[in-house]
Amino acid sequence: MSMDTADRPVALVTGSTSGIGEAVARRFAADGMRVVVHSRRSAAAGRALAEELGGTYLRADLEVEDEARGLMEAALDRYGRLDVLVNNAGISRPIPHADLAAATPADWRRLLEVNLIAPWVLCTAALPALRTAPGGGSIVNITSHAGVRPKGSSVPYAASKAALNHVTLLLAAALGPDVRVNAVAPGLVDTPMTKDWAGVHDLWRERAPMRRPARPEDVADLVASVVGSAYLTGEVIVLDGGLHLT
Ligand code: NAD
Repeated sequence: MSMDTADRPVALVTGSTSGIGEAVARRFAADGMRVVVHSRRSAAAGRALAEELGGTYLRADLEVEDEARGLMEAALDRYGRLDVLVNNAGISRPIPHADLAAATPADWRRLLEVNLIAPWVLCTAALPALRTAPGGGSIVNITSHAGVRPKGSSVPYAASKAALNHVTLLLAAALGPDVRVNAVAPGLVDTPMTKDWAGVHDLWRERAPMRRPARPEDVADLVASVVGSAYLTGEVIVLDGGLHLT
């Protein structure tokens, strides 16, 4: 993209030092965007990636509301604009669905805080900037097929993603035409989060029409398409290699 640096769109991708977030950050930079790389802990990796992509690194624990607000303030201070927000950071811990006692209220609170409330806080803080983005603002929430069907690593995880899918629709209806809001809902993706989930990997290799889990780059391709699709809003797009057909 041959634009002056100051004209290039700015994207904040939360949780972007590993997995899906890193692939999205790399894809956006390759597409000519200025990228704010974010993580909770891995500052060295974040700085190295931001330097490689010509972007900026910011650290924040999104479980802490003030840190989530501070992240958005720092991103806006750095670039003075925001065109794209990707709410990618999320947590998950396998808990059998039938073991109700194992999913404690503390688990519920933590999952909702990181997977649902932090994206809300970031959307709220980003809104004034997104509304004035030159080509229109775009929010992409990385949710899960577990937020569409009764599946997933735990009941609270699936419920947090289902809630974020619904927030996606509500915000799309409320914020158009200035800001588009969509969700990408992956099935299994080969990332650090799922590295120990051998049985689930087998399920995808045996049953999904694509015969493999997604790679982070597969998700990044779809996120880039959603951001680039000027008329697309209010969609929850499942990306599961066709597993839902089986
Ligand atoms: P990952 O573990 O590589 O990435 C998760 C990111 O979220 C990490 O960078 C982590 O630092 C960040 N994060 C977690 N808690 C945080 C906190 N309190 N504050 C700030 N950052 C925090 O895993 P991933 O698979 O790339 O997951 C990315 C997103 O995709 C998550 O929202 C996840 O729920 C979703 N997802 C993943 C899969 C999958 O199979 N991997 C499937 C569906 C949805």
